[in-house]
Amino acid sequence: MIRINENYLKLQSSYLFSEIAKRVARHQDANPEMEIIKLGIGDVTCPLPPACVRAFHEGVDAMAVEASFKGYGPEQGYPFLREAIATHDFQSRNADIGSDEIFVSDGAKCDTGNIQELFATDIKIAIPDPVYPVYLDTNVMAGRTGVFKDGRYGGLVYMDCNAENGYLPAFPDEPVDLIYLCFPNNPTGTTISLADLQKWVDFAKDTKALILFDAAYEAFVRDDRLPRTIYETQGAREVAIEFRSFSKTAGFTGTRCAYTVVPKSCRAFDAAGKRQDLHALWNRRHTTKFNGVSYPVQCAAAAVYSPEGQQQTRELVDYYLGNAATIRSEMAALGYAFVGGENSPYLWIDTNRDAWAFFDLLLSKAGVVTTPGPGFGRCGEGHIRISAFNSSENIKSAMNRIKSALG
Ligand code: PLP
Repeated sequence: MIRINENYLKLQSSYLFSEIAKRVARHQDANPEMEIIKLGIGDVTCPLPPACVRAFHEGVDAMAVEASFKGYGPEQGYPFLREAIATHDFQSRNADIGSDEIFVSDGAKCDTGNIQELFATDIKIAIPDPVYPVYLDTNVMAGRTGVFKDGRYGGLVYMDCNAENGYLPAFPDEPVDLIYLCFPNNPTGTTISLADLQKWVDFAKDTKALILFDAAYEAFVRDDRLPRTIYETQGAREVAIEFRSFSKTAGFTGTRCAYTVVPKSCRAFDAAGKRQDLHALWNRRHTTKFNGVSYPVQCAAAAVYSPEGQQQTRELVDYYLGNAATIRSEMAALGYAFVGGENSPYLWIDTNRDAWAFFDLLLSKAGVVTTPGPGFGRCGEGHIRISAFNSSENIKSAMNRIKSALG
């Protein structure tokens, strides 16, 4: 008798997005003349930068000619891309990461989900609340949690992020083995200082824990005092794995390219307490279960690091940051407390009421769709996330409508 992995039965159905869709459809049926503006989804709206499109075309053309045709590529990624990543994203920041420590993949979502295969089932996991749900659900699937009750899974250590602590996770007050951090954060848009990040690295070192650092929104960091990578801290090579993506940096959400950094000195331990090398384990996992990202896509990703690509991706991110600044100033003028929207495409608004009630108010009165905070965890009660991923015209008209609705 074929049996299922019963951990899947513990998963909460994707209530959030189906509920949003249901409420939007209901509103649209009742108000067919009202144009809806969506500030809820974390997907980009601008097309690929021209430098990437050109390199993408060239990569496709190369596949059409016998002399330049490519079959299976290196599973870790083509050296031309890994070298560009190591130079531009790390060595330029004095972060000691080599190209052979980079694993190119088709997404940070898959990587953040897959990485936990390397760890024992009975480890203790610290996870922020609110959180990008992938970290949570993939550990539920793997059987690292108990059942879902009162908005939380048993067996996890939740790190509350709320107004009292500036929406930054506090150190767990019980021993943990694996710590998820994401900066700039989805959903709150908060960032972390180098000094505070160093404290996490020191904590992981002292407690033999490992940090999974999701830097998918790194390109939005414009304040030079803020770290762009966890490897700017001392000692991170031993205790941290970093995830990056071209999705938000260069509009690759539909093109698919990302990478994970596992330094050669990054360690975990076996049951006997003996140090084990995570680079070797991830290399084994990656090369066994993944056959690489397509050549044209890697050509397009490498073009991000060309002089034109650097300028164009900066302009692209600046465009969304401009939108975020518009949302910030309008929400501030309306008297709302919030974090994010600086060095980040997301704003986390304290609505001062039930999050779904606020969502409904913005939908019915302004025709604007946001994301209710409870979809990201219990600490999201009373909050909504507003995303800057839309056209500037739509952002301006959405904010004008919100102003009329709330003013
Ligand atoms: N990590 C975070 C925090 C995200 O918000 C997202 C996408 O929204 C991802 C990872 C997924 O990135 P990718 O498109 O590379 O799978």
